[in-house]
Amino acid sequence: MSRIAYVNGRYLRQHEAAVNVEDRGYQFSDGVYEVIAAERGRLIDLDRHFDRLDRSLRELRIAPPCDRAALGVVLREVLRRNRIADGIVYLQITRGVARRNHAFPASSRTALVVTAARKRPPSAAAVERGVRVITVPDIRWKRPDIKTVSLLPNVLAKQQAVEAGAEEAWFVDGEGRVTEGSSTNAWIVVGPAEVVTRPLGTDILAGVTRQTVLDAARDSNIRVVERSFTVEEAKRANEAFLTSTTSYVMPVVAIDGTPVGDGRPGPVTRLLLDAYRRRVEGRAER
Ligand code: PLP
Repeated sequence: MSRIAYVNGRYLRQHEAAVNVEDRGYQFSDGVYEVIAAERGRLIDLDRHFDRLDRSLRELRIAPPCDRAALGVVLREVLRRNRIADGIVYLQITRGVARRNHAFPASSRTALVVTAARKRPPSAAAVERGVRVITVPDIRWKRPDIKTVSLLPNVLAKQQAVEAGAEEAWFVDGEGRVTEGSSTNAWIVVGPAEVVTRPLGTDILAGVTRQTVLDAARDSNIRVVERSFTVEEAKRANEAFLTSTTSYVMPVVAIDGTPVGDGRPGPVTRLLLDAYRRRVEGRAER
């Protein structure tokens, strides 16, 4: 079965789907995106993704392509046409098509593309293996809180991780503090059970999973402190993990080749994964 993509009002076979060569997303990365997980056909944390999407659009002064209800219909229709129950929907919104010129065009129609892919939540075996991360200087622009399609530093960081035999790269700011991963938020567990993650600001993306994990931790009476931490502190931490829409809560078992704790997924990380899963069941389609 051919995959189906939504492109500016039409559902097309993906191999025939295309955007204009003068789409500003293609020429300037002048666009934003979201990745939303679906489990058993239900979109997880949809409102939080829509809230973040609205904010990204506002920050870049891109007009929304349609209202939330209509966008929700398109997301579900793309899942349905691809017969995907467990997977992800990817949506990309750009400022649209205009003759190439850096300044905003006087008028352009916001472009919307939606695709979907089958993907299972991380398996028990994947969680057991955990992931290794490397650290790299954070060379991104000063607004990674906006979820733009401009991801070149993230692409280079992830490739560096892969070439080093790791699964993720953690960006490090000028003070030696971890900002976030190339496509994930970064966490450590110190002391008996204190969970630490960097506070929101313009220097990291406000992960939807990050927020839901914070809620889940508070529900489970796990102490969370939103503060930044250094690479050295992370290497000495009892546990470390990362969060994202597709990774859920994933143990980090080594940082730059140094095992974290005993080099295996830790108890607090496991507890948070369970709490996150429970919360997601309740939050789907809300
Ligand atoms: N940080 C960055 C740079 C990301 O690209 C992502 C996800 O794509 C995240 C964090 C995690 O965000 P979310 O939990 O909303 O998937």
